[in-house]
Amino acid sequence: MDGRSLIFDVAIIGGGTAGLFSASLLSEKKLKVLIIDHNNILGKKFSISGSGKCNITHRGKIQDLLQNYYEGVNFLKRSIYKFSNDDLLSFFSREGVSFYSDKNGKLFPENFSAKGLVNILIKKCEKNNVYINCDTEIKEIEKKNDFKITTGTKIFLSKKIIMATGGQSYSFTGSDGSGYKLAEMLGHRIVKPVPALCPLTVKNYIFDDLSGISINNIRISLKKNKKIYCEGDLLFTHENLSGPAVLDFSRYADKNDEISISFTEKKYYNIENESKNGESSVTNAIAKKTDLPKRFINKLVKQYSKKKWKSLSIKERKSVFDKISKMDFSVEGKSFSRAMVTRGGVSRNDIKSYSMESKKVSGLYFSGEIIDIDGKTGGYNIQAAFSTAFTAVNDIINKLQA
Ligand SMILES: Cc1cc2nc3c(=O)[nH]c(=O)nc-3n(C[C@H](O)[C@H](O)[C@H](O)COP(=O)(O)OP(=O)(O)OC[C@H]3O[C@@H](n4cnc5c(N)ncnc54)[C@H](O)[C@@H]3O)c2cc1C
Repeated sequence: MDGRSLIFDVAIIGGGTAGLFSASLLSEKKLKVLIIDHNNILGKKFSISGSGKCNITHRGKIQDLLQNYYEGVNFLKRSIYKFSNDDLLSFFSREGVSFYSDKNGKLFPENFSAKGLVNILIKKCEKNNVYINCDTEIKEIEKKNDFKITTGTKIFLSKKIIMATGGQSYSFTGSDGSGYKLAEMLGHRIVKPVPALCPLTVKNYIFDDLSGISINNIRISLKKNKKIYCEGDLLFTHENLSGPAVLDFSRYADKNDEISISFTEKKYYNIENESKNGESSVTNAIAKKTDLPKRFINKLVKQYSKKKWKSLSIKERKSVFDKISKMDFSVEGKSFSRAMVTRGGVSRNDIKSYSMESKKVSGLYFSGEIIDIDGKTGGYNIQAAFSTAFTAVNDIINKLQA
């Protein structure tokens, strides 16, 4: 322990996105901060975010941002107002980071990689003497006056704890779901964790040879409940359905669920007007009418593809439209190894939304993906990790420095 005391003001379990940000803020206030992480390096998931480019947050008003958190909107509201997308950008701007937005409003650092952002946070922690304990498994956490944290080799005491152990996906990054067990041991309910923001594997997949082809503005819904749907772009891969609309929708889909995808809204579009397209092949005529990729159309209407559109009867034309406009699939599965986030986690009902403090154990806080919150693709999950971390830190500073 380098001669330092074993007693800390705040122990942070998990040095990922939320944990590192919390430690950097708390240590600036001269508090004695400990990070315990069972991985060998910190911030691994953050450093691979956005394929290493880090889609850190999303452009737009706070009210619009909040619409992207499904059932977690009300829980997150105060945190996002306390620490918004603008606040997040300002925090890193002060460290020399500049940002750009893509055409959809996703924000990325311009002059730093995701790893570069992680290094900014780690340097702040090191500068302010945060005690970092990697490769450390926690055996037990007990609450007496202070918290007692027992690892394989050490016992730490701390006045407050922040649990920021993340979700259960991409387990090589360290967030492997073990944090849920610690939370459960301390009396919290866990909403069943399921993979989210992941591709969907479907039975009898026929689009492997269309890998890399995207279809814009599709609508994907659950057959049993059409009110549950997502809209956006779809991407065919070698083995599954992906792209933003599928990723956003994946949180709803379970194994064996029947799902329905509308590839175009142009039902029977211009079916009888043949002045322009009558001489075209069926594929070309349909591509012009719908903007769907020709290889996709060819695949589904192979038997007609060499025919002229005008040679088809109205009934046949309708049948061609039916084939290419909508398809049903049966979900074979989805996996944590390909999921960018976890739906589920520590129940929101067990956490005070204005402070992130546990309702079960005073002095214990949660932040980031360990909580039952998940956002759409677009920077919303990193934003939630920073905003909930800020809320917890704020409350702790107010209480410890009162
Ligand atoms: C491939 C990929 C790309 C992504 N891209 C984006 C993106 O561009 N934009 C976006 O908004 N979101 C993105 N996400 C999601 C985003 O990275 C996470 O939601 C966010 O990092 C969660 O932060 P966190 O602090 O809650 O957890 P994490 O960053 O996962 O940190 C958790 C930490 O806790 C440690 N830990 C876990 N269990 C224990 C334990 N029992 N004891 C001790 N330590 C423990 C882990 O080792 C880890 O260091 C992406 C995710 C993935 C997998």
